[in-house]
Amino acid sequence: MLNLNIGSNMAYSAFWQIFADFLPELCNYNVNIQIKKSTFSKHNLFTLLLQPENEVQADKQSYYDEEIKIIIAQVLAKYILGYQSWQWLIRKVKKECPELAKEEWLQIVYAASQWLKGISNGEYDLISNSFNYKLCKNIYKYISENTMFDVEGYSRFRLSDYYAKLQESLNISIEEFYWQREYEEFVWVLKSFLANQKEIIKVLHILMQADGQFVLLDENKQLVRDESGDSVTIDGIANLYDDVLIGSILALAPAKIILHHRHCLKRHFRELLEDVVGERISYCNGCDICRV
Ligand SMILES: [Zn+2]
Repeated sequence: MLNLNIGSNMAYSAFWQIFADFLPELCNYNVNIQIKKSTFSKHNLFTLLLQPENEVQADKQSYYDEEIKIIIAQVLAKYILGYQSWQWLIRKVKKECPELAKEEWLQIVYAASQWLKGISNGEYDLISNSFNYKLCKNIYKYISENTMFDVEGYSRFRLSDYYAKLQESLNISIEEFYWQREYEEFVWVLKSFLANQKEIIKVLHILMQADGQFVLLDENKQLVRDESGDSVTIDGIANLYDDVLIGSILALAPAKIILHHRHCLKRHFRELLEDVVGERISYCNGCDICRV
């Protein structure tokens, strides 16, 4: 007979829900499972009693006990890495970003769980199960040597590295969230401005050059602006040209924009351009203007 006490502030229903997934496996060992719950202040204590239904030989019994302990370790690991981690992230994000809506909290928590894989170099990649496997092994060892397993205590003292990485992932995803929101507001302002501008020219040809420099022509291939050559030589030159180009588009408000030499366009700037001017832009694959 196995007797294990599990202390936790987890809800009885949450514990059962995870435990239920492993019941079919436990049934293979013909055991009766009793879970007694006692409560001390806010802490729950689940006492698991696993007793064989029929008499089994002593050596078989000890083999069964080991197998059952492995299953219990899996239950606990699944709880810690799943439900408990998720709840921990939700609590943290609510505290750190109280002004956000529920869907935004969930969006950040989901992103954090994705970040966790990257920043730990895959060590905490829960999908690959390698960390899950390691945790199961450690919990198994622990419950083989102790009859009491305190879930929160174990997490706090033995999984501090894991929680530090979880916190780091959360910080990154919060930062990313606000950065994205700022970007969307910026694009919205530029788009609204463009929508309200009077059209000065119908078609704008942009001839991109390396380093972000460009030449602008109108529909009659007449020069509108020339930002090529080496007239400006300060650091961060590319960004300066990006600003000038966006400024020119906003001022001219062309109905159609044809961009030549697309390969000279940096990816982040192409995304910004497309987000701001939308359908107005198209890319040339080779024409008389390009070849001049
Ligand atoms: Zn062209």
